Amino acid sequence: MTAAKTRTARQDVPLASLLSLEGKRAMITGAAAGIGRSIARRFAEAGAALDLVDISEAALSRVGGELDGVAPSVRLHSADIATDIGRSLLWESVADHPPDILVNNAGIYPFKGFLDVDAAFYDHVLDVNLGSVYWMCQEMIGRRLKQGGVIINLASIEALVAFKADLAHYSVSKAGVMALTRSLAREHGRDGFRINALLPGGIITQGTKSAARGVLKFQLGLIGTGIRFRRRIPLGRLGDPDEVARVAVVLASDLASYVQGAAIPVDGGFLSA
Ligand code: NAD
Repeated sequence: MTAAKTRTARQDVPLASLLSLEGKRAMITGAAAGIGRSIARRFAEAGAALDLVDISEAALSRVGGELDGVAPSVRLHSADIATDIGRSLLWESVADHPPDILVNNAGIYPFKGFLDVDAAFYDHVLDVNLGSVYWMCQEMIGRRLKQGGVIINLASIEALVAFKADLAHYSVSKAGVMALTRSLAREHGRDGFRINALLPGGIITQGTKSAARGVLKFQLGLIGTGIRFRRRIPLGRLGDPDEVARVAVVLASDLASYVQGAAIPVDGGFLSA
């Protein structure tokens, strides 16, 4: 039995110690806003040192300021993780201590009708939402083959239910994230990696607010979809980014020591209804 197995399967480890991320370093992409920002705050509270990554330098430094004194250490990385150069500079800068936990959260969800999508648009969405996750996982696993680690990938309920129109490109990217998560969980579980996906439902973030503003301005037809979407949620409301972050803490911690290759909805019950 490996050391990790001996510890995590023991029944006498106190709950607080199972939940703690003390002594761990976590890298979170898209950490300057929304769900990523909430995950950063909760991971800091759980004791993790942080590598926060975002394309938006100004917003990232604001989040860094908020977490000053909360996390044991915060390193900020302004990077476009959809590009080879952005990722390679990022991983070079953490080569001295690659993260124990990687959260692939950065993502975009621009609305566009299927017939209006061109190659440049499609490639960009796939590069940000799926390509980046694929290559970030390869960096993480390649660098920690001897130690293992935890990976959490942000997929979406859209990967399973195409509820909104004009998001085929997005659904494809998130279905890819789910497939990748399962494949890597299968292939690298015995190397000590726990790899799972979160499937948020409708969560109120900067991203969804600006998407909603765009809909109000340009695509009135989508308003009805929004109303139907909300009506279908058994809990009767949209979610808060912190409600996704709370589940991420569990997945990152030893509380989830036997959770592998799972796709966990955090959707107020949307998929179940
Ligand atoms: P958001 O738009 O509020 O924040 C995303 C962050 O990612 C931003 O800070 C942005 O600057 C950053 N980012 C975007 N492209 C990047 C790039 N190329 N490199 C580095 N950083 C980049 O988004 P959110 O609503 O918090 O969503 C976070 C994740 O959760 C996404 O993957 C999204 O698809 C997924 N998700 C969100 C919802 C929801 O309702 N909010 C639902 C399902 C899935």
